[in-house]
Amino acid sequence: MPELPEVETIKKELEKVISGKKIIEVIVNNPWVIKEPKKEDFIKSLKNTTIKNILRKGKLLILELSSGKSLAIHLKLTGQLIYPGNVRQSRVSFKFSDGKFLDFNDRRLLGELRIVDDWHSLKFIKELGPEPFDLTEEEFKKMLSDKKTKIKPLIMDQTFISGVGNLYAAEALFRARINPEKPACSLSDKEKGLLFKEIKDTLNEAIKYQGSSVDQYVQLSGEAGGYVKYHKVYDREGKPCLVCKTPIKRIDLGGRGTYFCPKCQK
Ligand SMILES: [Zn+2]
Repeated sequence: MPELPEVETIKKELEKVISGKKIIEVIVNNPWVIKEPKKEDFIKSLKNTTIKNILRKGKLLILELSSGKSLAIHLKLTGQLIYPGNVRQSRVSFKFSDGKFLDFNDRRLLGELRIVDDWHSLKFIKELGPEPFDLTEEEFKKMLSDKKTKIKPLIMDQTFISGVGNLYAAEALFRARINPEKPACSLSDKEKGLLFKEIKDTLNEAIKYQGSSVDQYVQLSGEAGGYVKYHKVYDREGKPCLVCKTPIKRIDLGGRGTYFCPKCQK
């Protein structure tokens, strides 16, 4: 699933190409991805509005419109935004007054498009925890101190911290040399500090390389993101650890495939 770096990459690219543009037509090839309002009203509330502002909250993209409403886009597992689009594979396409299209593709139809009066009132937004970049090291340490949950599912919990998913949780824990199954409250002060630093560093590096093209993620141009070649543990089961050469292990943790080095991560 696209995580903070992938959605941030798309957000920055969208700002360059569709900010200030007017939507003149909405083509719905599959209404399943439209969660609210119903298709006809969805189309009506987008037609002849201008894209005023583009925001990212956790893994959610928000396009603020000149009408005062907002279009909220959650890519979920296989959602893609492509510009300029061609409408051929899209579930929904947005046509701008310059004749160009923004395509929303979604192979597995798990993505969600919503028009809302006020995005602040979305349940998803209200429940969203702070982003790592909005926290101080002391705040992060304090948040972990009374949590008995295993550290990896905890940092992936969007109500706890937003933006980190399965991939970047695994990478940050490897870099901080922390076993993903360790209860959060059992981490030493030093481990907590190191994890905080590695979460932010990993996310920043991934943003620099336009994200990781796993699942269906691509940049707005349709090109792959460049960060996969820098992954240290994710999807490397059986391959030698880059530090100690021990084969990387994959376990199931909270229903998610979890990669780690059994020797380096204690
Ligand atoms: Zn190792």
